[in-house]
Amino acid sequence: MTDATTPVAAHKAAVRAFAAVRGWDPYHTPKNLTMALASEVGELCDVFRWLTPDESVAAGRDPKLREAIADELADVANIVFLLSEHTGIDLSGAVAAKLAKNALKYPAPAGAEDQVP
Ligand SMILES: [Mg+2]
Repeated sequence: MTDATTPVAAHKAAVRAFAAVRGWDPYHTPKNLTMALASEVGELCDVFRWLTPDESVAAGRDPKLREAIADELADVANIVFLLSEHTGIDLSGAVAAKLAKNALKYPAPAGAEDQVP
């Protein structure tokens, strides 16, 4: 699986199936998922805590740190997918809509080509 070839829907289906087979759906309220998301973001922050800015840039090239970053990034993403599912919010549509809002709020510099859909 890679970002280039995997639709968001495939990730959402996989994480929903993972949770369903374990009987976790009753616990996956939007409130609980948001709390879990904050916890996982905290775990991601912990990987970078105390690193200098240069060390944080290099962390992705360190095998041990790279694995820790990937693990926590995946935890964050999986909970985002679950939150999208349990709120009925289409993630791709929300991302595109928010980029469009941000483009209005933060206009591209004059002469720069904006790629916002
Ligand atoms: Mg985690």
